[in-house]
Amino acid sequence: MKRPTPGVWVGWALALAGLAAVVPAVLAANLWALVAAVGGFLAATGLVLAPLVRVWLAEQPITRPSDFEHLLDLLRRAHRARAGWLVGLAAGDVEAVGNHDVSREVRQRGAAVVQLASVDGRAHVARESEGSYVAVGDFPFGAGLLLPGPDVDPRIAEAIASELRRLVAGMRVAELHEPDEQAGQLVAKQLAAIAAGSRTLDGIAKAGAELAQQLARRGVAIVLHGAGGWGGGTAARGARIVALSGGADARLENLAVPADAPVMRAIQSGVPVATRGGEDVFGAAGAAIPDRRRSERAGTAYPLRDGHFVIGALVVTGPPIPPATPVGDTLQRLVSELGSRLAAAGAVHEAEQRAVRDPLTGLSNRREFDRWFALAGGKPPPAVTLVFVDIDHFKRLNDTLGHQAGDAALRHVADLVRQAVRDNDLVARIGGEEFAIWMLHTPIEAGLEVAERVRRAVETGVWHWNSGTHPLTVSCGVASCPDTVKEVANLKGTADAALYRAKQAGRNRVERAQPAA
Ligand code: GH3
Ligand code: MG
Ligand code: MG
Repeated sequence: MKRPTPGVWVGWALALAGLAAVVPAVLAANLWALVAAVGGFLAATGLVLAPLVRVWLAEQPITRPSDFEHLLDLLRRAHRARAGWLVGLAAGDVEAVGNHDVSREVRQRGAAVVQLASVDGRAHVARESEGSYVAVGDFPFGAGLLLPGPDVDPRIAEAIASELRRLVAGMRVAELHEPDEQAGQLVAKQLAAIAAGSRTLDGIAKAGAELAQQLARRGVAIVLHGAGGWGGGTAARGARIVALSGGADARLENLAVPADAPVMRAIQSGVPVATRGGEDVFGAAGAAIPDRRRSERAGTAYPLRDGHFVIGALVVTGPPIPPATPVGDTLQRLVSELGSRLAAAGAVHEAEQRAVRDPLTGLSNRREFDRWFALAGGKPPPAVTLVFVDIDHFKRLNDTLGHQAGDAALRHVADLVRQAVRDNDLVARIGGEEFAIWMLHTPIEAGLEVAERVRRAVETGVWHWNSGTHPLTVSCGVASCPDTVKEVANLKGTADAALYRAKQAGRNRVERAQPAA
């Protein structure tokens, strides 16, 4: 039996797109008529018949017709678009540019918007000076046009988006029937394209999960070892779910994976681990989620490697995929490709974190605090509250218990401050035993409450050192813009003055900054 050639499937995809276009074209006599006529004609003659006839006459390889390019250009002309783009095809990305003068920047921008749509699957309308980009995607495929004028009518944009969606559906039909060898290359190529577009750890992990889902047709999760510490400072470096595909249970997001979970066995042993029956691949953490389907508790964890080191696992939910099958092989290729890319992105991520974090406490460092401070300096000034926190008699503690004890006490207080604020607030260690809390969109009353919460937490939170407990207290100064000062630039000075008054008044207290006269 000879497999149908790619040409046949492309033909069918185009026929589908063309025929689907006939109905709205007849109803609305819109521009799809042109596409329907030409696309349908091509599909019927050039693309469906020709490959079949050729297969029948002589069993020789057929080169793949590049007719998505043609279809894209028809669509571009139909809408008088300046340019158009398709991404995700195995044969390569496609660009259609009109006679107009389309610059290199615009061509790069268009391809990037379409790439983005291909990953997040949403319709994007970007109104910019060079025109309006309209792009849609269905991972890993994407299509987009650049329309003239920076303010396309929303209804026109929506109509064009639905035409583009039809084109993307045609791309999927064509490519899903590619021979397996090409599908494997597509995986590597897509991952490379996405990795180039998005160098962040999150972006690559998400793209890897989506690609694996496309292959396996099941929900996929990416678990990384050591991800617990990224952004969490000195928190225990456990393993954590860092990305989920669209089909996976969203409640798994960011879940910490316990050390005895089956997925950890795969990470420790370096060989895939499959669970069966009711055993949850994420161990007790997954089991704790109510009403999780039994079929989804089972899963196969494939180790993700960076050279000899296992850095995490890609988990395909559901019953095991047989290894020596086309899907199993392609998945294996994706897993090995993804491992090294995630490791590289992880290294960049850690380097970035080192630049903005205080190594002792894991809080933001002084430089990062200054950067936030400078960002808020623009006009108009936002409502922002600044709290300075200083540990009382810290020198005494250092002198009596030693420097190591001092460091441990700093970490203890840092954890209490972090727990007292919201996720969006910035907590920085800005000096030896001084901390700053930067709260945007926060009036002074709320800032005073936070400072009081910190003060009480330190006073009542027991700090152990060398099998003894030692009392700790902090003093706080609170200032706010525009409540106490009109200019953000004056916040530091007034918060510092308030802190000084708290020390003078006996320590272990919160002082509110006095409004400038
Ligand atoms: P006050 O209540 O007035 O704030 O008294 P204090 O002793 O806390 O104030 P002072 O600013 O005079 O002393 C700060 C001390 O913090 C000096 C130094 O011994 C200690 N220190 C500064 N940075 C570090 C650090 O990174 N680790 C440790 N262990 N101690 C530090
Ligand atoms: Mg101090
Ligand atoms: Mg102090």
